[in-house]
Amino acid sequence: MDYKKYIKIVDNWPKDGVQFKDITPLMDNGVAFKSAVDEIVEFAKEKEIDIVVGPEARGFIIGCPVSYALEIGFAPVRKEGKLPREVIKVDYGLEYGKNVLTIHKDAIKPGQRVLITDDLLATGGTIEATIKLVEDLGGIVVGCAFLIELTYLDGLSKLDGYDVLTLMRY
Ligand code: IMP
Repeated sequence: MDYKKYIKIVDNWPKDGVQFKDITPLMDNGVAFKSAVDEIVEFAKEKEIDIVVGPEARGFIIGCPVSYALEIGFAPVRKEGKLPREVIKVDYGLEYGKNVLTIHKDAIKPGQRVLITDDLLATGGTIEATIKLVEDLGGIVVGCAFLIELTYLDGLSKLDGYDVLTLMRY
């Protein structure tokens, strides 16, 4: 499917010089959204995944329907101060800012096979931080799936050795 026709490019948002890729028109379209989720489910199917992990907020939008389809759980990765129980945390750099990500300490059991989902791979900082959280808890990252990769920011170079699926490239 030509998913790109459902992506709106917004110039200079959230700050000057950024060309934001807005995925909400894709989510608005039930056929396109289901097709994108189905492609990620297909990618995940043979990997014997135990749990899906996604960073807030758009990683939830992609990861939750995937976990539902695979009949497995979903664990949220959130910004500092958002998760109510004991967490581990990691600092990371964004395409446009800095942040801290956290995950509940008991979200993943050692040895569990994990699929990480997000809407978009830019510099790779968010996925790198999410992988670190999963691996610090003893999880095994067996795949990373994104709707979009911004190839000019070379986030893929941070995912050497990991199995990566992206449905669109800019
Ligand atoms: P990275 O950490 O630089 O790879 O940035 C990826 C993160 O920033 C993802 O969690 C995205 O949701 C968000 N992000 C960065 N640029 C965009 C964009 O153009 N559209 C949607 N999300 C973006």
